[in-house]
Amino acid sequence: MKVLKFGGSSVAQPDRIRGIVEILKDYYAAGDHFTVVFSAFGGVTDNLIEMSELAARGDDRYGQLFQEFADRHQLAIGELLTNEKLQQETAHQMRRSHEVLKNLLYGIFLVREASPRTMDYVLSFGERSSSYIISQVLQQAGVPAEFLDARRIIKTDKTFGNAKVAFEKTYAKIKEHYREHPKVQVVTGFIASAKGGLTTTLGRGGSDYTASLLAAGLKAQAIEIWTDVSGVLTADPRRVEKAFTIPKMTYAEAMEMSHFGAKVIYPPTLMPALQNRIPLYIKNTFQPDFPGTKVSEESDPDGEAVRGISSINNVALCTVSGTGMFGVPGIAGRIFGSLAAANINVILITQGSSEHAISFAVQPSDAERAREAVEAAFAFEIARGVVNAVKVERDLSVVAIIGENMRYQPGIAGRLFRALGKNGINAVAIAQGSSELNVSVVISREDETKALNALHETFFLSDYKTLHLFIVGVGLIGGTLLKQIDQQNDYLRERRGMELKVVGLANSKKMIFAPSGIDLSRWKESLVQSSIPIDLAVFVGRMRDLNLSNSIFVDNTADSKIASFYETILDESISISTPNKIATSSGYLQYQRLKNIADKRGVQFRYETNVGAGLPVISTLRDLIDSGDRITKIEGVLSGSLSYIFNTLDGILPFSDIVREAREKGFTEPDPRIDLSGKDVARKILILARETGVPLNAEDVHVNGFLPEEAMAAASVEDFFNVIEDQAAYFNELYESASREGKVLRMIATLDSDQATVGVQAVGPDNPFYTLSGSDNMIVFTTDRYRVRPLVVRGPGAGAEVTAAGVFAEIIQIGSSLS
Ligand code: ADP
Ligand code: ASP
Ligand code: MG
Repeated sequence: MKVLKFGGSSVAQPDRIRGIVEILKDYYAAGDHFTVVFSAFGGVTDNLIEMSELAARGDDRYGQLFQEFADRHQLAIGELLTNEKLQQETAHQMRRSHEVLKNLLYGIFLVREASPRTMDYVLSFGERSSSYIISQVLQQAGVPAEFLDARRIIKTDKTFGNAKVAFEKTYAKIKEHYREHPKVQVVTGFIASAKGGLTTTLGRGGSDYTASLLAAGLKAQAIEIWTDVSGVLTADPRRVEKAFTIPKMTYAEAMEMSHFGAKVIYPPTLMPALQNRIPLYIKNTFQPDFPGTKVSEESDPDGEAVRGISSINNVALCTVSGTGMFGVPGIAGRIFGSLAAANINVILITQGSSEHAISFAVQPSDAERAREAVEAAFAFEIARGVVNAVKVERDLSVVAIIGENMRYQPGIAGRLFRALGKNGINAVAIAQGSSELNVSVVISREDETKALNALHETFFLSDYKTLHLFIVGVGLIGGTLLKQIDQQNDYLRERRGMELKVVGLANSKKMIFAPSGIDLSRWKESLVQSSIPIDLAVFVGRMRDLNLSNSIFVDNTADSKIASFYETILDESISISTPNKIATSSGYLQYQRLKNIADKRGVQFRYETNVGAGLPVISTLRDLIDSGDRITKIEGVLSGSLSYIFNTLDGILPFSDIVREAREKGFTEPDPRIDLSGKDVARKILILARETGVPLNAEDVHVNGFLPEEAMAAASVEDFFNVIEDQAAYFNELYESASREGKVLRMIATLDSDQATVGVQAVGPDNPFYTLSGSDNMIVFTTDRYRVRPLVVRGPGAGAEVTAAGVFAEIIQIGSSLS
């Protein structure tokens, strides 16, 4: 004998019911003995609650809802039953039954009250209607089915809404009934009866429980819970997109998952199954051939440590504290005794080792009563001031990682807290079951989905990790970066287990957001069509509110306004990658503050492309320092624009023409003086100095300019060009005097102990910078280890393609560090 149960979502529409009839026909044809339990049609229990509540408030709109309820069932009869006689009989039967419901609701409307007892009776119409109709449809399909109202066989106490089962009585009744009824019994889930025939219910989601009670009574060989997902998944698929089916788990694991919020199995279901060692299969109605999940006593010592992740969306945390609790036995007993007496269910308990405080989580609706119960129990101590009034914190969630094998593996809790920390999620309280089957953490409700996703990525490595990118600036660098990400995403997903989703994008006019990822093949159109004007504060606010795991902000601009938001962004535990030099080269204290905030929040503030574009300059420097080397000197040609200009000088072409051409090719800033004056190079050596640990400010860098003062002072860029054109002879002489000695011009930045200088030098063939060509950059590190032959990084140091690639690589590095 097998017991099958189909949930509300599986019977929400007539065509879904047709699918189930096909499944059951196959069982019957195969000669399987089975009985089948049905929930109410999807949403019906909620509808019934709503109509009773309206009626109890004296709101006559309940009538409309009732009519929809009745129509929905009649429509299903019309669609599913083609046999006229059966159809009429069923429709008639339902009309009679629904007439009773109508009168009942009218009664509620008149007395303005729906007691729990009445409510259970109202709710019973959901399961009674669905199961009856489906039993008729099965008969039509040739399965000898018989409708069974579970109130005849499942006996409970009178705790309406959540009745306690009288097991022995129930099992006896089940046996007796099935002995006398050989046909396929089609049973109402969820409902039962108490003494005197009063209708009770087993708690929301209780049809699963009905199935396992039947299975226990019948000593069935299996229970199959058919639902709308492919088994028990590693996490709730509505919150964690990447959740996947757990093929096998133990009763204990399933119990923990369901107690910690995995709605797929109603928690009490597992006990009768476990006691009778009946395996439970969770299957998908929409994919009947998929094996789903098997829950049994078989454990798998070689399996993953963490089997699944669950959460309870809304809890309140009560804390009892005070000096009078230290070393006094019986405190916990009194707290939990008082809660038990008040019939309050405790979800989680933690006690600090100091014994000064005990916290426990309860349903928010129980929090006030819990506080009163505990305060009454400790009235004497509270009056004497040795125990404090109970503190109640609300809007919290519990997330739990679950798995039998956790106890064999050290370091699990460490990984859990690291993943939460890196995502800026604060743990309000922590508890570990003594059986080490779960570790649960109380966090702010706002962080629940983010925490689930971050933990899923941490513990289920077979899956890929998603990085959520917020990108500002889509000019040359930004646009190229988007193209590169789009091209590389498949590779990253397959080979690196990483997916990059751009969820926020802005240019200087507009912004767009798409939590599921912006389509990178048409980001330009999306930005043009966007109706949201750019507002950085709003952009940053959205990043915070979306609260996505592994969020990274990418600033592809040179804008100081954007840099002014870095502090807020890092403080929200969002990492930053940027080629923008403003934040790193402005005040030293500001630079240091940003780094400190990033450290404190466990996120990254990265700016490799500030120096040498895509060349690994800053990371090389960091690696040297981290591995214990000491930097004695850094020399570098750090400006691609100046390299290009000096490499093009030939004594024939006028200097002004070369600069003009460089500008037109995008090799210089719009105002070339920023490059020619050495200002840009000064910022770069400043950044390198800071990375080395020398706390310089911009004014500490000595810049020996080579531009005549008049050129620097020119009012406009055009005036500037006029001046340098007039001064052709001066520039020519600069070149010639070097050339006569067989030398070339280079703008060289130097950091020697704590002195930073920038200036144009004429260098000969014996100098490493002599051979540079095109827009090459070259950085020479002299260190304790690289004393005789310095370490050199050399290559193209400007251009959108290499800079964007540098930012891209940095994003991936940040991603790798995030959990
Ligand atoms: P039914 O109507 O079949 O009883 P439920 O809605 O009660 O279905 O339970 C199935 C739902 O449980 C799924 O649609 C899913 O959203 C939710 N759920 C929560 N956690 C999990 C999990 N870990 N695995 C599978 N489903 C889960
Ligand atoms: N119909 C009931 C509910 O919605 C029972 C169930 O679906 O299991 O809670
Ligand atoms: Mg359910």
